[in-house]
Amino acid sequence: AAASLIRAGGTVVFPTETVYGLGADAMNPAAIKKIFAAKGRPDDNPLIVHIAAVDEVKPLVANIPAKAEMLMQVFWPGPLTIIMEKAAIIPTEVTGGLNTVGVRFPDHPIAQAFIKMAGCPIAAPSANRSGRPSPTQGKHVLEDLDGRVDGIILSSDAELGLESTVIDLTVEPPVVLRPGDITLAALREVLGDVAVSANVTENVVPEKVSSPGMKYTHYSPKGELVVVTGSPEEIREKISKALAHYKGKPMSLGVLASDETMDFYREGFVISLGSQKDPKEMAKNLFSRLRTFDELGVEKIFAEDIPLNNETLAVINRLYKAAGYVFI
Ligand code: AMP
Ligand code: MG
Repeated sequence: AAASLIRAGGTVVFPTETVYGLGADAMNPAAIKKIFAAKGRPDDNPLIVHIAAVDEVKPLVANIPAKAEMLMQVFWPGPLTIIMEKAAIIPTEVTGGLNTVGVRFPDHPIAQAFIKMAGCPIAAPSANRSGRPSPTQGKHVLEDLDGRVDGIILSSDAELGLESTVIDLTVEPPVVLRPGDITLAALREVLGDVAVSANVTENVVPEKVSSPGMKYTHYSPKGELVVVTGSPEEIREKISKALAHYKGKPMSLGVLASDETMDFYREGFVISLGSQKDPKEMAKNLFSRLRTFDELGVEKIFAEDIPLNNETLAVINRLYKAAGYVFI
């Protein structure tokens, strides 16, 4: 039923291993416009095209670089989006006017069966309203898009919980535009030299960005989120002080802590992102925790900073963006 909705030019939300996606026929401009309308997404923010077999890449791109072949071999199906020169047949609506296209082969049995049965490549951004945290659970999809799309395939919670790693192969050396579960170290093992976009960790919002998605507000909870930096002791002290400052005021407070630190705090809604020893758990939980603060009506959220390493880069990147790069 979902596949026939796609063939009829409709929109369908489907599960993947990263987050839920909002799909439509990538070759049908009218269907693509429905995605942007349902999300309230700016039309220059490009969509990723999803396929269900490696040989489906060829018609979508002008050429397949040797490095793309290597990445597909190692990481597909999986959470890696590869940017290449687009083929003329890809509607510009999909690529936000760019002459490149991002392609991904997801590693999820329902996503694969759905794409195969639809019989076309599926353009799909994350299935959230624009600017909201990406949906990792069926209820998040319903909160944001129920009544705004033609179909929803509900499944279990997303296994990874952060969107795919995006790597641009149209430049040399290749550059990671968005970190994800496929880490920089893993990419360098295959490709050698790989650069990282300055936007990824820095507190900058450049005028001209190579990945348009990077310039928009992202992942924001309804409450005001700030990241608290410093040594573990400094972080605890700063947050405790802030909580004490607001005590007695009509302000609902939250702390995004870890399994190791959450017992320290005595005020507000204290939620753990997971164990500091388990970056994958933190990545899987981040977006759903931000939505939990919304459900609790939390107005001000203090998030403990996360120590940077190869495995935590992706979750840090999303946390900083969600906070609009506001640090204390
Ligand atoms: P979303 O599906 O919501 O995670 O959004 C997809 C993201 O992938 C966009 O916001 C861009 O950051 C990135 N992306 C997709 N296609 C391209 C492209 N052709 N060039 C650069 N970045 C892209
Ligand atoms: Mg998104």
